[in-house]
Amino acid sequence: MKSLQELTRPNIWNLKPYSSARDEYQGVEATVFLDANENPYNTPHNRYPDPMQWELKKQLANIKKVSPKHIFLGNGSDEAIDLVFRAFCEPGKDNVVAIDPTYGMYEVCAEVNDIAYRKVLLDEHFQFSADKLLAAADERTKLIFLCSPNNPTGNDLLHSEIEKLLRTFEGLVIVDEAYNDFSEAPSFLSQLESFPNLIVLQTFSKAWGCAAIRLGMAFASIEIISILSKIKYPYNVNQLTQQQAMEMLRKYYEIERWVKTIKEERGYLEAEFAKLPCAVSLFPSNANFFLVRVTDAVKIYNYLVGEGIIVRNRHKIALCGNCLRVTVGTRAENDMLLNALRRYGR
Ligand SMILES: *Cc1c(COP(=O)(O)O)cnc(C)c1O
Repeated sequence: MKSLQELTRPNIWNLKPYSSARDEYQGVEATVFLDANENPYNTPHNRYPDPMQWELKKQLANIKKVSPKHIFLGNGSDEAIDLVFRAFCEPGKDNVVAIDPTYGMYEVCAEVNDIAYRKVLLDEHFQFSADKLLAAADERTKLIFLCSPNNPTGNDLLHSEIEKLLRTFEGLVIVDEAYNDFSEAPSFLSQLESFPNLIVLQTFSKAWGCAAIRLGMAFASIEIISILSKIKYPYNVNQLTQQQAMEMLRKYYEIERWVKTIKEERGYLEAEFAKLPCAVSLFPSNANFFLVRVTDAVKIYNYLVGEGIIVRNRHKIALCGNCLRVTVGTRAENDMLLNALRRYGR
């Protein structure tokens, strides 16, 4: 790996961060807060939230088995994705490499930040090769984006290939684990110590059932986390979100039950889809959704919309011709979808 200073944009490396009132005060015993121009009324919402979210990070650290200093929290994982571009990629000069197809936000953030986005097509099993990604990279490639289980294909990427990439790539490797809770594959979180160029992304939006509160997590070396923390908005995670997240951490057993049920429902949907005349092929999934090739994705998508059922049409995405992406719902929702598809074409 190159040094972090070589990988970081010089203006970011030299940046002195904005220091908020809540940053500067570090004492313990204070009871009168006249430092932040807040309104003294309307407790508790009158006070600015903790800019570094230490209490929440402490509790998360217990569950994730990493030190709080290895955690960055953002307004969804989407904030962390945008910040890695802004921290490490020089607009108009640097580039990033990513598998294709994958989560659309990497490319959108690349375009917003004027960074060339180099796509490397997955193979017919939706797997990638470390060598192919490395061949697409050059001196100005700062980041490689991986997503496992991958969206929209649903499969885990090969652990051994990810490790090979981490060992050989000179820049940073982002492993997006938004769907890892639904997979049997081990998380890369336990490998942070071995790979200083690793950034793992996770989110409260999927297994944790909290898409509305917008909370994403990035795990990386203390040095990388410090850079992301330096350039984020001072109060990027609001107080209501921090509280709700801590509430969810207290009922992690509920999340385990949801995940178990969703995986069972995924099995049920896959078995029933296999019997549908309009389903041409099903792709095995380790996520809370699956990709299915159908006889005519556009027609079936529109038919389902007419029935009040929305799935994701992935027909125009690389390798996904005539494919729909179906999120696993409750048994009642899944049966409504299945019944509509059984009626299709009759
Ligand atoms: C849904 C999803 C996310 C979650 O993004 P948030 O901003 O945390 O809601 C991240 N990565 C992938 C691949 C996703 O599919």
